[in-house]
Amino acid sequence: MELESILLPGIEPKRPIIIAGPCSAETEEQVMQTATELANRGIRIFRAGIWKPRTKPGGFEGVGEPGLAWLQRVKQETGMYVTTEVATAKHVEAALNAGMDMLWIGARTCANPFAMQEIADALAGVDIPVLVKNPVNPDLELWIGGMERLNNAGVKRMAAIHRGFSSYDKKIYRNLPQWHIPIELRRRIPNLPIFCDPSHIGGKRELIASLSQQAMDLGFDGLIVESHCNPDCAWSDAAQQVTPDVLAYILNLLVIRKEKQSTENLNELRTQIDECDNNIIEILAKRMRICREIGTFKKEHAMTILQTGRYNEILEKRGAQGELCGMSADFVRTIFEAIHGESVRQQMEIINK
Ligand code: PEP
Ligand code: MN
Repeated sequence: MELESILLPGIEPKRPIIIAGPCSAETEEQVMQTATELANRGIRIFRAGIWKPRTKPGGFEGVGEPGLAWLQRVKQETGMYVTTEVATAKHVEAALNAGMDMLWIGARTCANPFAMQEIADALAGVDIPVLVKNPVNPDLELWIGGMERLNNAGVKRMAAIHRGFSSYDKKIYRNLPQWHIPIELRRRIPNLPIFCDPSHIGGKRELIASLSQQAMDLGFDGLIVESHCNPDCAWSDAAQQVTPDVLAYILNLLVIRKEKQSTENLNELRTQIDECDNNIIEILAKRMRICREIGTFKKEHAMTILQTGRYNEILEKRGAQGELCGMSADFVRTIFEAIHGESVRQQMEIINK
């Protein structure tokens, strides 16, 4: 992909680049008050949704085009750059006519190649930075494909936004982070800036600080955070918005580690990691040898391979133990599911011999 910097004049090339503002533009007063408070705390890029994609009909679907005039006012009165979400060619046209400085494409739109192509066509020949959220489903190819459509249409100033992935099973997160996906995106397209959207990943304001820190520790370039002058009364995404004051507090506490530090410490740590990985393989091999012995026993006694009770016991016990050791129970369960799969395969080999 042919990419150019998304940095706007006057924005320092320093991590993290911050974009903040309400989920939705609700009223002119709410937009102006939030923007003024954010500008006073040093925020330079203001976000607000004008057209809101909602899961169910009947919710607040955004104020539409009149909201663009409020964003123009933000730009004039605070000097901030302004950005909004576009999902159709009509949105693109209206946003460009209103002088938006940056556009973003939402997760539902990114999941739809027809919509992405329509937006790409509408942006042909226009030089504006475009941020592309990951699709709602965890499909890196779809995410990259959407960005390629834009890039092929001539959009060179582009960045990705990691906003997590839908899952049926909502426990801690509103959208699962699945960090390995943006990490793989970085490996595939190293010069593409990546923003994290901790608001939509977490779904609760309490999670914003830790998710932002994680994103910084992974070397992300920026954060897009929902901030509202009166979060509890927000017309959309109330639980995940923070006041400009709280946002400033969160940003202030972030530890930004340099990407390139002296590599000596790192080499030492990598040696330790290699040792751990070695141990993991050896211990797994030992476990598989025992499984084959069990296979032999089961064959001699004409027993079935799968003993469901035992399997559930392992998953539960190890999930809980993993959690006590600071890992997510889901992660540990996934590992044990994979280990169990291989154990069954090894036993099958013995039994079918
Ligand atoms: C938003 O940023 O307000 C939004 C609708 O986000 P997403 O597309 O990530 O759901
Ligand atoms: Mn939102």
